[in-house]
Amino acid sequence: MAYLTLSGINKIYPNGFHAVHDFNLEVEKGEFIVFVGPSGCGKSTTLRMIAGLENISKGDFLINGERVNEKSPREREIAMVFQSYALYPHMSVYENMSFGLTLQGVDEDVIEQKVLATAKVLGLTDYLDRKPRELSGGQRQRVAVGRAIIRKVGIFLMDEPLSNLDAKQRVTMRSEITQIHRQTGATTIYVTHDQTEAMTMADRIVVMKEGYIQQIGTPHDLYFDPVNMFVAGFIGEPPMNFIRTVVKGGKIGIGKTDIELSGIADQAVITELEGKEIAFGFRPEHVALCDVNAAKPENAVKLDCKVELTELLGDNTNVYIDIDGISSILKIDPHMTPEIDSQISFTIDYGHIYLFDAVTEERIKTRLC
Ligand code: ATP
Repeated sequence: MAYLTLSGINKIYPNGFHAVHDFNLEVEKGEFIVFVGPSGCGKSTTLRMIAGLENISKGDFLINGERVNEKSPREREIAMVFQSYALYPHMSVYENMSFGLTLQGVDEDVIEQKVLATAKVLGLTDYLDRKPRELSGGQRQRVAVGRAIIRKVGIFLMDEPLSNLDAKQRVTMRSEITQIHRQTGATTIYVTHDQTEAMTMADRIVVMKEGYIQQIGTPHDLYFDPVNMFVAGFIGEPPMNFIRTVVKGGKIGIGKTDIELSGIADQAVITELEGKEIAFGFRPEHVALCDVNAAKPENAVKLDCKVELTELLGDNTNVYIDIDGISSILKIDPHMTPEIDSQISFTIDYGHIYLFDAVTEERIKTRLC
């Protein structure tokens, strides 16, 4: 039996807006789940229903097999960290962290022991006497996390907890939260719109769009096996390239280059696709530059293009290209950065080609993916 079960969860706000549609998810004890998706897709609403801060319009939420739809946040034994840290400004770090336990009537000695242990984990030992205004954003965020984990609850919910931090602090806190999760083993649901956070922290990711789950899977699944164009485009930076084209005589044209689909998909699939518009997808990093005059390799597509712009990012270069009027991006070794306006060629292995139905945007199963 799963630890958390969300079954057919829907949220319809009082104004009639249907924010979450038929959300189904089973979470195992100790899992780190990330809800990711663009602004307004229903991540926070779902998290707030799990927390008990928002009522569930339809569906069942179970903790350990028990339906808890009507239970208060406290009865659900859940701790939550919000985007705004919501620390008490007049209290010290020690008091902010101990407040919840004091309210519960926990012994002062026990509280002290817990605060000191939690502060040690979070690197806050030297700041216990300070007020929140005397801390950096990252330190405040750690106090908020400390206040939540000190209660040793089974379920830990976090809503965009790193969004107020600068880029460097975000990277540090990301790994700290992952480590805290390893140490506490608390089942965690973490909301973000940042796919890098999702990919680096999650055991499993739930990708949402406009109130609907698009795909649930491990970071590896979502990157290598996306179910549709939305997921394929959302996960990965720069996003996957999509080139729309029509299947004619078992071939597709990418600019002036004809590509035989027989190397990529089974004959039955190709027959089915005849005359249909599809999207040819490839990730910017799944290309290899090659000599313009080189022959097409056996198990790869070779495309010619003109370099429009290059961005040297240090560990790689983004190359903005034009393939006979079609714009795409390649992500390559910075030592191979080509000249702007030069003609280059590159190959994509058949195994790195994704095909999608251009109308439904669903993935078409190829032979090698
Ligand atoms: P963000 O990343 O911007 O926080 P989100 O994915 O968390 O977005 P939600 O806050 O869950 O999105 O909101 C989902 C949808 O529900 C949005 O379109 C939002 O405008 C709408 N919504 C949120 N709260 C209410 C409310 N109280 N009444 C009506 N609609 C609401």
